[in-house]
Amino acid sequence: MRTETPPLIRLEDYRPSAFLIDRVDLDIRLDPHATRITAELALRPNPAGDPEAPLHLDGDDLTLVALDLDGAGVAPEAMSVGPAGLTLHRPPRRPFVLRIVTQVDPTANTKLMGLYRTDGVYCTQCEADGFRRITYFLDRPDVMAVYTTRIEANRAEAPVLLGNGNPVESGSVGEDRHYAVWHDPHPKPAYLFAIVGGRLGKVETAFRTMDGRDVTCAVYVEPGREDRAGYALDAVIRSMEWDERAFGRAYDLDVFNVVAVSAFNMGAMENKGLNIFNDKYVLAVPETATDADYANIEAIIAHEYFHNWSGNRVTCRDWFQLCLKEGLTVFRDQEFSSDMRSRPVHRIGEVRSLRARQFPEDAGPLRHPVRPNAYAEINNFYTATVYDKGAEIVRMLRTLIGGDAFRAGMDRYFADNDGRAATVEDFLAAFATVTGRDLSAFARWYERPGTPRLAASGTYDAAARTYTLRLAQHLPEEGPPLVIPVALGLVGASGPLTGATCKAVKDGVFVLDTREADLVFEAVAEAPVPSLLRDFSAPVRLDLALTDEERLRLLARDSDPFNRWQAAQDVAMRLILDPDPARAEAFAEALGTFLDGEALSDPAFAALVLALPTEGEAADQLAADVDPDAIHTARHALRAHLGRALRPRLDRIDAALAPADGAAYSPDAASAGRRSLRNAALDLIAAGDPQTGAALATRRLDEAGNMTDRLAALAALATLAQIPGPAREAALDGFGARYAHEPLVLDKWFAIQATIPEPETLARIERLKGHPAFSMTNPNRVRALVGSFSMANPTQFARADGAGFALVADTVKALDSANPQVAARLLTAFGSWRRLEKNRRVAAAEMLNRIKAVPGLSRDVADILSRTLKDG
Ligand SMILES: [Zn+2]
Repeated sequence: MRTETPPLIRLEDYRPSAFLIDRVDLDIRLDPHATRITAELALRPNPAGDPEAPLHLDGDDLTLVALDLDGAGVAPEAMSVGPAGLTLHRPPRRPFVLRIVTQVDPTANTKLMGLYRTDGVYCTQCEADGFRRITYFLDRPDVMAVYTTRIEANRAEAPVLLGNGNPVESGSVGEDRHYAVWHDPHPKPAYLFAIVGGRLGKVETAFRTMDGRDVTCAVYVEPGREDRAGYALDAVIRSMEWDERAFGRAYDLDVFNVVAVSAFNMGAMENKGLNIFNDKYVLAVPETATDADYANIEAIIAHEYFHNWSGNRVTCRDWFQLCLKEGLTVFRDQEFSSDMRSRPVHRIGEVRSLRARQFPEDAGPLRHPVRPNAYAEINNFYTATVYDKGAEIVRMLRTLIGGDAFRAGMDRYFADNDGRAATVEDFLAAFATVTGRDLSAFARWYERPGTPRLAASGTYDAAARTYTLRLAQHLPEEGPPLVIPVALGLVGASGPLTGATCKAVKDGVFVLDTREADLVFEAVAEAPVPSLLRDFSAPVRLDLALTDEERLRLLARDSDPFNRWQAAQDVAMRLILDPDPARAEAFAEALGTFLDGEALSDPAFAALVLALPTEGEAADQLAADVDPDAIHTARHALRAHLGRALRPRLDRIDAALAPADGAAYSPDAASAGRRSLRNAALDLIAAGDPQTGAALATRRLDEAGNMTDRLAALAALATLAQIPGPAREAALDGFGARYAHEPLVLDKWFAIQATIPEPETLARIERLKGHPAFSMTNPNRVRALVGSFSMANPTQFARADGAGFALVADTVKALDSANPQVAARLLTAFGSWRRLEKNRRVAAAEMLNRIKAVPGLSRDVADILSRTLKDG
């Protein structure tokens, strides 16, 4: 049922299910409008459950065709069927079998939850609660069953039929239909169920696990696109090898299948043995995919594969424990990508993403603990906090106990919980057991919302050669202190002061578990600059008053790459929030020295140093009265200054990193790094000298041999040089025409146009909504055009006249009944509205209240709306 004030579900109300389901036999007859599902459920009372309870099976949008219990009908008065499910008032108190026949319309399913059809392919999405849209079920993760699934379809319409587990049987049914039977021996919750049926091409390869199992790995895509699936398949194999090496985890079925579909609410889904992907995270050839696309494909393939252990073999007891599988699996995929690429460069990317998405969430009305204690709509809790801050907690745990103990604790966690639905407490217990440590204070990270502040100040005593560092933690809410690992060191005029010692620092880490602490370093030969939170050792905001000179010393001399990058960011941030020509001059000089020294030896790192903090990050520094126009103007002025001051060096980088004639594209990290630095140089050249930049970008657009360079050139032309007019429009039109039949490339084209920081962009977006390739029913298209606008065009989204807010609000309203999940996600763009300056704040509130007045809002949108509007 959908109501305007959704009721809250609370962690403290968790009760074991009154019944368990041991075995599920499904027979699914696929049909575009009338798919029939026969489910045979072997139920029994749960010894740990309420012995008096009725049997309530969840259901949503189902047509009940038939129901019998142990082969006999059920009297109408013994049951009730409503919009939220089916209840047997007096179920047997012994094992019994329910046979339920339901019917659904996959073509009409625009919510993309449950069984739906996209571009003629049948597929499913059951996390978090989609299985109840296929049949009536105990749709909760702590009910785990062994599934056998028979899928039947028209052979011409769906020659490929895939399910969870291993294929056991297939054959013909009459003239034009056929079937396949899949059996999954591993008990699983319903959210991991999946089937696929359709006309699909595939690439496949063999893998032998470390325990000798032969696995056939395949990636299925739209026929004719098989040449775009090779990179994803390669990433599957590398993920399998890595999980064996890094965590001792081997795959456990005879087949591992990945299927790419075009309409998908999320990135991808880890269904047991049958991962279903948004095609954006599978398809790649150099002509259509950027370096970032390749890196994302690698990371998301790995993420979903790693869930086979962290999520599937060990699942979550309830949805409050979502971080148990997501935070842990994000940590695992981050480690994989770091091993595949440059570790420092990857770490900087992780932290940028955390700060761009999770810090604002943690500072706004949608803030919640990594393990929430209440929710109205679980689909709204697939958040940066659960995923990315959840991963940071696992990373801190490893820092605290060390790599070897961490690995031993993970082994223990898998061994103790295999085949179970576990909790955060079970996870921490494994590490407490192997280390003998009390982790109860550390566990507070899971319960406390908001980003802590770490305040630091130091004094140097030249006579005593000591340096005293005072650290204090300030938490957004009352409560006992957190356990914060602070990786640190001291840096002198010519490099790290390795001779300085402090008893409280072990292996370069001080653990702050009190409100404040004084650290005394001895044998400090000169006045040092402290380098704190090395490698971003904790997800906190650091308050440390350093001068630009001190920060630039860290950029030049620190041994920690993360803090070198951070130092440049800090100087740039201050220059954006408090512009000063003399300091900008000194910054440009320091960057010049840096580029001369090492731009060409580590181009990926140099590109990150040159990339200024985003406008969103700058806004996130301000507690109130954010004026996006002022931030945009200041940031652009700093870029223009750097572009002019560094021009000779940028020209040299441009020339030195030009690809050799006829050189083939390779997506590897080193090649991608060279492209990223050359494109960062183009970006600054264009900012400093728009005419030259536009000419350079136009030439690059013609000459580019891959999508990374072509897109960077188009972005420079469209959004960076800010030269409106026929040349820009011709470039945009040419790109749009060239890729008219490439939806994923058009998404990039939509996104570039949606982020042009000028007032005409609103009319442009309205025009693009009428483009033949745009569709409100495909989440990728909506996110590319409207999502990019709301998340990455702050001056136009937060226009003082409210027109940008209205554009997004209208889209939310238009989308809500068709796809509430995507509508609710779009609405989160308003999360920081209270920190805007007054006119914009008033306009945002008016727009939010206008959405609120719409009758019949989905639970998803009503939930985000009520939390966003809540006071304080
Ligand atoms: Zn995941």
